[in-house]
Amino acid sequence: MTITVSQEPRAAEPARLSGLATRDISAWFGSHKVLERVSLTMAAGEVTALIGPSGCGKSTYLRILNRMHEMVRGAQLAGEVLLEGEDVYAHGRRPTEVRRRIGMVFQRPNPFPAMSIGDNVASGLKLAGIKVSKEYREHLIEESLRRAGLWNEVSSRLGTPGGALSGGQQQRLCIARSLAVEPEILLMDEPCSALDPTSTRRVEETIAELRGRLTIVIVTHNMQQAQRVSQSCAFFLATHDTPGRIVEAGPTEQLFTDPVDQRTADYVNGRF
Ligand code: ADP
Ligand code: MG
Repeated sequence: MTITVSQEPRAAEPARLSGLATRDISAWFGSHKVLERVSLTMAAGEVTALIGPSGCGKSTYLRILNRMHEMVRGAQLAGEVLLEGEDVYAHGRRPTEVRRRIGMVFQRPNPFPAMSIGDNVASGLKLAGIKVSKEYREHLIEESLRRAGLWNEVSSRLGTPGGALSGGQQQRLCIARSLAVEPEILLMDEPCSALDPTSTRRVEETIAELRGRLTIVIVTHNMQQAQRVSQSCAFFLATHDTPGRIVEAGPTEQLFTDPVDQRTADYVNGRF
């Protein structure tokens, strides 16, 4: 009997698999309170979907998780964000270190359009101040593109500009760029909203591949997508006079088939 040992190059493994949690997160823009005491645990290696109507604070919550919120003028915050149990807002902790460990992909694909595909993937390394050998840089570019499900489509043209790719490919390029710095957490804010159904399916396949290798938090308005990609789900809601809160959180299956709160049932069934 022969035992075949895979000769595949080792993937760019994240430093470790980490969980994320928030405790009593409240947020304001000036005097406008937009989130109220949001507590949620996002389990290591799982995909957690954040759902809820527009304006209920989902994007704000994501930006709080990786310290992008503080870059917004007038933004304030109370509460704790725990990455592997340690507060990312602890005194003396550098926001850039937090943002390397907790990456973000946005609704609109935003590669550097004139920069080559390869350099786009590697660009995060420079921003994060990570110096690697030329060989390891190339390895990271290839592995990140493989992970993002884009390698086969671009391997022969890594030198062409990122802006030459289709919208769906650009989004997977952005995912590859996030993966290149080997984050433990990947935040995705409506990553498929600007994509056609085929590109959406490719991104969902990528998310399924990444599951278990890193922790993913995805905001989506697509209820089928939430059910396809996530294991846990949190339903956010704001009203005209109350800030965004979590109405209900739990296993995705339960939220969709046996929700505790009537508002959850109404939302997931498209009644508002
Ligand atoms: P969602 O992503 O669920 O649609 P957001 O987090 O974008 O919700 O917005 C939540 C609330 O915060 C909204 O009332 C929105 O108008 C407000 N908001 C978001 N970003 C800013 C900002 N930069 N300045 C002021 N208000 C903002
Ligand atoms: Mg949003």
